[in-house]
Amino acid sequence: MLTKRTSPKQRGQIAPELWDDWRWQFRNRRRTPGGLGDLLGSQIAQANPLQRVLRVYRWAVTPYYLSLFDPRDEADPLRLQCIPDAREITFSAGGTEDPLEEDSHSPVPGLIRRYRDRCLVTVTNRCAVYCRHCNRKRLWHRKEFDLSDPETDAIARHIEKTPAIREVIFSGGDPLTLSDVRLERILARLRAIPHVEILRIGSRMPVVLPMRITERLCSVLRRCRPVWFLTQFNHPREITREAAEACERLLTAGIPVLNQSVLLRGVNDDCRTMQELLYGLERICVKPYYLFQCDPVQGTDHFRVEIWEGMRMMEKLWKTTSGLCLPRYVADMPGTKGKVPLQPVSFL
Ligand SMILES: *Cc1c(COP(=O)(O)O)cnc(C)c1O
Ligand code: SF4
Repeated sequence: MLTKRTSPKQRGQIAPELWDDWRWQFRNRRRTPGGLGDLLGSQIAQANPLQRVLRVYRWAVTPYYLSLFDPRDEADPLRLQCIPDAREITFSAGGTEDPLEEDSHSPVPGLIRRYRDRCLVTVTNRCAVYCRHCNRKRLWHRKEFDLSDPETDAIARHIEKTPAIREVIFSGGDPLTLSDVRLERILARLRAIPHVEILRIGSRMPVVLPMRITERLCSVLRRCRPVWFLTQFNHPREITREAAEACERLLTAGIPVLNQSVLLRGVNDDCRTMQELLYGLERICVKPYYLFQCDPVQGTDHFRVEIWEGMRMMEKLWKTTSGLCLPRYVADMPGTKGKVPLQPVSFL
């Protein structure tokens, strides 16, 4: 393999059959302090705050996602989402590790149930790219894990005993870091439960590693339909040809694709960028579903935008933007309180 010594920075240097292979992309992610230093053009010495960040929170980024921005431009909205920032450990507005109280709403390991009719399975704590604004950063403290067969079975048995659950969401981490075979085994186990009507996949792969959406994966998902796919584009520049094609493959397989953005300071907190993102999603037939207020999660406080700012932006969008591409702006509340719409009220 020519992988190890090639700098993945320049995609032109990589043979297309490697570049387009999701496993190559995954294996060649930048994830070490040295790799971070290379990108930023500096030594990350022991005392450097970034070293301390890396000791607390993991990082990894795919060559593909890296190729979309200039790592030395500190204000780049894509860089902000994936390159560690000292503020993750130095800036706090009082966020906690698990403000949504997911851990206390977990009847069996790997299952989170905050609603009567639907529940969420954390299939793994691994992701292709570790988003700096992730609201499950607490899972990164644990070693990498995938749901084992006995754990999957325990979850399935709990759901079997709970006929009120009609929808199961596969999330993580990113469930698509599993192989197709393992993923299909988990999906099929839950699909076999008669009262489970809907499966949902939550994955950022179309954005950070679109090569992962292979025809083979699409046929797995197709066999488990109805499956809804929720992804997370946060900035219009993430809607590349590759990302659009990944979504197109899902759509062609009969899998509706929806988007959940997070409102992030410096990334998408101005009306123009947000409108470009929403129009772009509408063009590739990805329905904007939610715009999340950034949860008060420890290590993400520097991304938070005030709710009133978000409401003001939504009010402007509401007046000027097609309803087809308007997401619901919501804040997630602790425990069973769930997602609460933040509706602009003053728009008459
Ligand atoms: C967000 C979430 C859901 C899904 O909520 P929807 O409003 O249906 O998108 C389900 N379970 C958990 C734990 C959640 O956080
Ligand atoms: S892909 Fe999702 S779970 Fe993974 S780091 Fe990003 S926001 Fe968190």
